[in-house]
Amino acid sequence: MKIVDVRSVKLEGSLERSEPIWEERISMPLDAYADFRARGAQEVMPTWMGLEPEDGRIPVSCIFAEVESDDGTVGFAGPIDEIQAFLIDRLVRPCVLGEDPRAHERIWDRMYRGVEAHGRKGAPMQALSAVDCAVWDLHGKLSGEPIYRLLGGPLRDEVPAYASALGFSLDEESVARRSRDIVEQGYRATKWFFRHGPGSGPEGMEKNVDLVRMVREGVGGGVDIMFDCWRSWDVRYAIEMGERIAQYGLRWLEEPVFADRVDAHAALRRALPFPVSTGEHEYTRWGFKALMDAGAADVLQPDVLWAGGITELMKICALASTYDVEVVPHAHAVATIHVLASQPATLCPMLEFLMNHSMVHQFFFREPIEPRNGVVALPEGPGMGVEIDDDKVLRRRILRWEPY
Ligand SMILES: [Mg+2]
Repeated sequence: MKIVDVRSVKLEGSLERSEPIWEERISMPLDAYADFRARGAQEVMPTWMGLEPEDGRIPVSCIFAEVESDDGTVGFAGPIDEIQAFLIDRLVRPCVLGEDPRAHERIWDRMYRGVEAHGRKGAPMQALSAVDCAVWDLHGKLSGEPIYRLLGGPLRDEVPAYASALGFSLDEESVARRSRDIVEQGYRATKWFFRHGPGSGPEGMEKNVDLVRMVREGVGGGVDIMFDCWRSWDVRYAIEMGERIAQYGLRWLEEPVFADRVDAHAALRRALPFPVSTGEHEYTRWGFKALMDAGAADVLQPDVLWAGGITELMKICALASTYDVEVVPHAHAVATIHVLASQPATLCPMLEFLMNHSMVHQFFFREPIEPRNGVVALPEGPGMGVEIDDDKVLRRRILRWEPY
């Protein structure tokens, strides 16, 4: 049993929808510059996530990493972006060809040694991560088992999801309606995204405070609320915001400052009257150990398709269990749920479900992961438990790059 090909495929399709997917955008570090701050959602959100509809449809494309074994079975993972696909082709593929798809530790170590020079963090580690997940999917398909069984699970039959409101309008009426909807759909937690940071001045801060108030009023007292700063604030701004929103009782404040500012995260964790989360833009057991050693966060958010794959997330979870912090991985629900199902609920309490983003992210899946009454039942099929619905694929092509 050996791996005979590693590649990326780009699928193109068309989503039926008459409204833009992105009603609003998040605050971003580049908002420190006034020209960038003035740009709207359609100008700054990634184009593959879908733009304006035309004639009631939005073009959708997703790239997936694929790993094929010598019997023709194919494992896949994603979506990934073009940079990951390029790095899979150039850097990761040669480390994996000829390997046994059940030997995850060996494959991971070979990939790590292949990318380590400049790839301990960022895009090369993301490329490694996607291939690691695709190898787990392949192993699951070859053995006929869901990945969580291969990982020693499941520890539960279903996982609570929290409603992530990325892309939703922040208008008062819309926030009130969506917040009520989220509760009615059975979610017990929801995360919203600030639009403003220090560059927007007192007026922006006022709008940020209003957002927290509106969400709290919308969901009522019994539902957890979280807010994401996407690394766009600074320590002083976060502390002033903390004083103004403390009354609304946050489950966590996410990525208040640059991912590199580990000591600033730790200072905010000590200063703020609610938990701090980070790690969406951190990588590997070594990166997360540094966060834990510094006391930088109450909640860690590794992304399975970025931080080192399923193999590495298992190690990050094991480490986190020795530091009394929670792991609530970032997004990518399909691969993530297998890790969560193999961990205790006390360590990994819930799954992030991107309400808007998922319609693109999971567009090509025949059976997308979808919460019912706020919980996701574990997929029962082999591997990741999802298949591509070929009826939705208008065009499929393999991405390869010629040598220089
Ligand atoms: Mg985030």
